Amino acid sequence: MVKEILFGAVPAVIVFLLFLKVNIGPFLLFAAVLGGIYVLLSRQAGTGFAGKATRSRHIVPKTNIQFSDIGGQERAKRELKEALDFLIKKDKIRHYGIRPIKGVLLTGPPGTGKTLMAKAAANYTNSAFVAASGSQFVEMYVGVGAQRIRELFREVKQLAEKNGQDSGIIFIDEIEVIGGKRDGQQQREYDQTLNQLLTEMDGIGSTDNPRILLIAATNRKDMLDPALLRPGRFDRHIVVDLPDRKAREQILRIHAAGKPLADDVDLEKIAQETFGFSGAQLESVVNEAAIYAMREQSETISPRHFALAVDKVMMGEQTDREATVEEKRRVAIHELGHAIISEQVRPGSVSQVTLTPRGQALGYVRQNPLEDRYLYTKEALEQQIMVCLGGAVAEEIYYGGRSTGSKNDFEQALAMAHEIVQSGMSRLGIVHLSYIAKSQVHEEVNRILEELLERTRWVLRQFDPVFANSLQILLEKEVLSGDVFRRMLHEQQLVGSLSAQPLAGRG
Ligand code: ADP
Repeated sequence: MVKEILFGAVPAVIVFLLFLKVNIGPFLLFAAVLGGIYVLLSRQAGTGFAGKATRSRHIVPKTNIQFSDIGGQERAKRELKEALDFLIKKDKIRHYGIRPIKGVLLTGPPGTGKTLMAKAAANYTNSAFVAASGSQFVEMYVGVGAQRIRELFREVKQLAEKNGQDSGIIFIDEIEVIGGKRDGQQQREYDQTLNQLLTEMDGIGSTDNPRILLIAATNRKDMLDPALLRPGRFDRHIVVDLPDRKAREQILRIHAAGKPLADDVDLEKIAQETFGFSGAQLESVVNEAAIYAMREQSETISPRHFALAVDKVMMGEQTDREATVEEKRRVAIHELGHAIISEQVRPGSVSQVTLTPRGQALGYVRQNPLEDRYLYTKEALEQQIMVCLGGAVAEEIYYGGRSTGSKNDFEQALAMAHEIVQSGMSRLGIVHLSYIAKSQVHEEVNRILEELLERTRWVLRQFDPVFANSLQILLEKEVLSGDVFRRMLHEQQLVGSLSAQPLAGRG
């Protein structure tokens, strides 16, 4: 109503002022600026005529993702499908008087396929699909977040109606941003947004058409407000974890499909070497390998392209940092130290020794996990600590002194030594960290590390001839595959036992 009066009155005033020969230029400019600010603000808030005219930001383009396009995650897929039956088998649900599921919470590290699962769920149930991320609700204006939640629920209903579907799925990624615990300290804006979400969820059951399911994803379930997790809200919790070896192979196969792979590419082996990678990282490996092949104008994507791609995803892009000759020598000795210990404690474990700088590292040894490990014995931890210490010890023996290059190794070694203490595998026995003095833990960790440093020194000394003879080869080639390295190790040891002089104290 106010708008209509304004639309009528403003031209009349302008004509009147023109009639009086008043210069209205500055007024018009001022009005235009005010109008611009109004339009911008109302767009932000999603209200007003500009808000209605703008397109929805939540409706995502229809995708054809099916559950079969998701590698691994068998248990998660099965649990999700079970939950989705509530959308499909409406009659049965009604027959038994079962309370419908309103929310499914997917928890797990980033890039494991949670968004894919939500999209596949929409296709599986032929539901309308809208998606948003928690961070989209973070606004400085009070009330805007809550308004957006309302919008989201309205949109999914409208979309379902438009498409003639009788169910809708809302996906909210990073739910912890809006669903964090309300501790009274947080901003009111967050509370309002969360309250609105709870209200909308409580209202889900009241209408049957369309039936709505909320799927949310988070990596921090511990941060969520208990109100969200109580029965009747997100009452299905599904863990979407990092893929195991078999799942990694499946994911690689899905993304390699249709790409020109060389005959000798062994995806099973690549899956074995990529322990700890997420689905998104594996997708990136395949993509990067294809890019390397294209750059070299190679007809097919070869195992070497894959090896480079794994390195890139694991360590970051190659850097142009030119190391000095001295630095290179030190790095080569350091990496040989890691690699030799790695082969000693677990034969066949070195996958590659490299001297090209990548990310923060000047060189690195890629270890090949023979099988996925989730439990470690004391012995396995000690061996891995020795591998970490191998670099610094080699520098100490064959170059004289340590360098800052070992900082990262020491951090890892310290973390594992702590693990030994905390798991009750040290001399302190079973301990609770809050019941014993920090200095006691520190002493024990130090003792473990000193003992392992001594053992590492002893092992490396057996390989004096290898350092004498292999260093030059590594410096020249810069990259040695695990097999070449092992062959060299074997040969040099034989040669060394007959001729080479120990190298101690050189540098
Ligand atoms: P999240 O939501 O868990 O952070 P996404 O579902 O967005 O992860 O995954 C990002 C990308 O990673 C996907 O588009 C896909 O290319 C790849 N990806 C992740 N997990 C898988 C999987 N299990 N199978 C196939 N591809 C995957």
